[in-house]
Amino acid sequence: MIIKSHLHFIEKIIEEDIKNGFSSEKIRFRFPPEPNGYLHIGHVKAIYLNFELGKKYNAPVNLRFDDTNPIGEKIKFTDSIKKDIKFLGFKWDQEYYASDYFQQLYEWAIELVKNNKAYVDNLPKAIIQFQRKNPFESGINSNYRNRSINENLYLFEKMKKGFFEEGTCVLRAKIDMSSSNMNMRDPIMYRILKKKHHRTKHKWCIYPTYDWTHGLCDYIEQISHSLCTLEFENRRPLYNWYLDQVCEKNKIRPKQIEFSRLNLSYSITSKRKIQYLINKKIIQSWEDPRIFTISGLRHRGYTSIGIKNFIQEIGISKRNNIIDTSLLEFKIREHLNKISPRVMVVLDPIKLIIDNYSSNKIEWVDSENNPENPRFGHRKIPFSKYLYIEKNDFLEKKRKEFFRLSIGCEVRLKNAYIIQANSIIKDSNGKIIEVHCTYDPKSKSGKKENIKKKGKIKSTLHWVSIKHSIPINIYIYNSLFLIEKTDKNLNQYINPKSIEKIIGYAEPSIHKAKKGDHFQFQRIGYFYVGTTKKYNKKLIFHKTVSMKDQWKKINDKNKKIEL
Ligand code: ATP
Ligand code: MG
Repeated sequence: MIIKSHLHFIEKIIEEDIKNGFSSEKIRFRFPPEPNGYLHIGHVKAIYLNFELGKKYNAPVNLRFDDTNPIGEKIKFTDSIKKDIKFLGFKWDQEYYASDYFQQLYEWAIELVKNNKAYVDNLPKAIIQFQRKNPFESGINSNYRNRSINENLYLFEKMKKGFFEEGTCVLRAKIDMSSSNMNMRDPIMYRILKKKHHRTKHKWCIYPTYDWTHGLCDYIEQISHSLCTLEFENRRPLYNWYLDQVCEKNKIRPKQIEFSRLNLSYSITSKRKIQYLINKKIIQSWEDPRIFTISGLRHRGYTSIGIKNFIQEIGISKRNNIIDTSLLEFKIREHLNKISPRVMVVLDPIKLIIDNYSSNKIEWVDSENNPENPRFGHRKIPFSKYLYIEKNDFLEKKRKEFFRLSIGCEVRLKNAYIIQANSIIKDSNGKIIEVHCTYDPKSKSGKKENIKKKGKIKSTLHWVSIKHSIPINIYIYNSLFLIEKTDKNLNQYINPKSIEKIIGYAEPSIHKAKKGDHFQFQRIGYFYVGTTKKYNKKLIFHKTVSMKDQWKKINDKNKKIEL
């Protein structure tokens, strides 16, 4: 049962089609990536849309690799695309390749030539472009437009057999050089590319263009609703024109429907631009955690559930806009909050000495592993005289609005006692090296009589016992770009601090951490456990996301990164 008011515009179209007699059993979708790069967060929107519709209408969703351009297409990309779709938890019906249909497409192209609807053009690319003119001015017909059918058949065959060099001729559809839609001004159907294709190898030296290929592949697979992004909207008449040439009456005629792309602030969602960053060595690979590829996000600890919740939240529309990255992070945080055990880790330590605490004493204080979910249980954390706290949780002289530790002030140490800072020791450069304080032995956390004290103490700090702490490798990721809209001149706006490698000091329970675990480092953020690529496979804690929205801070500080 489908509730009307919750339908997005594509569902409404499908519902309308069913109402008008289209059999719901014939509904079929496809996701058609070009294997020339890894999938990014933008693709998730298209994947989610197609596969969720598939589930809703109990319809198959094909995975079709749109591999019509041998330059840049590789098997490693088809593999990564499949891995990413699986990571998102979706299952495709059939796996197809546009290159599977090259022979059929070629035969249909011959039909077009025979019907005087396509011709071989020998004009150079620049002249073809020039003759197209602009939407306000009619184009100019090519001199070759009126070649005889026989000559065209002869030349097209020679093109296919490799007699001509790249760039010397193309096959063009004969449509209308004065159409107000530029896509209809005799578009190119085939070009010569003497390149090895990752699947068909050297079998073909002419390759069909996207437009000639896409709709016809949809037709071959009997896709009922072919969903694509808005930039294809004015190519729809051409999609339909090509279908008109081959479509048989008793077959499903695919319907192209466009929706808006997903664009995210402070990120890029373009394979070409990501490839550029790799070529310039600005990022390491397609899987770099600073980039919003699915595998980059996965390495950083984004969960498929969190990512899908985000896509669901933004919805499907026809309006192009830029979505705030903080919304994505919010959704990730929301999910990680539920599934991550808590630990205390100090990233930038300063030594805290509790003068009235015995140096031989160790207390194992009790802590909940996840207050959101009692099933996570409890753990014991060692408390002692010598602790680390975060450097920025201490300020020598109290300032207004600073409620953490400063001399003369009290704070609570999480799961332990209330302390008051009394004095500091500085080194010869004036750097604080020790904070001395006293603890209130009666203030132990969890005791009933201490609840009334709660209101007075404004801050709770995380800490670790120095003697028991375990140093861990941490990678902190910050925005790769210093600007919100990343259109051009990418390398001018690279954040030099987009990755920081540091050592943190964790409570002993961290020794159980293993690859693939998520943790909340209390008061800091969520972290994901990976390993180094080297043989010794050291654990690395990747920062997934901060506890709080950092982007607002970036925007507020006039686009200056201060994380
Ligand atoms: P890129 O610009 O990164 O190369 P693309 O559109 O060329 O992307 P394809 O592999 O052709 O990448 O895309 C496969 C499918 O994913 C297409 O249907 C495309 O419309 C969709 N898609 C790509 N980018 C986005 C995005 N940012 N938002 C929503 N859908 C997208
Ligand atoms: Mg594309």
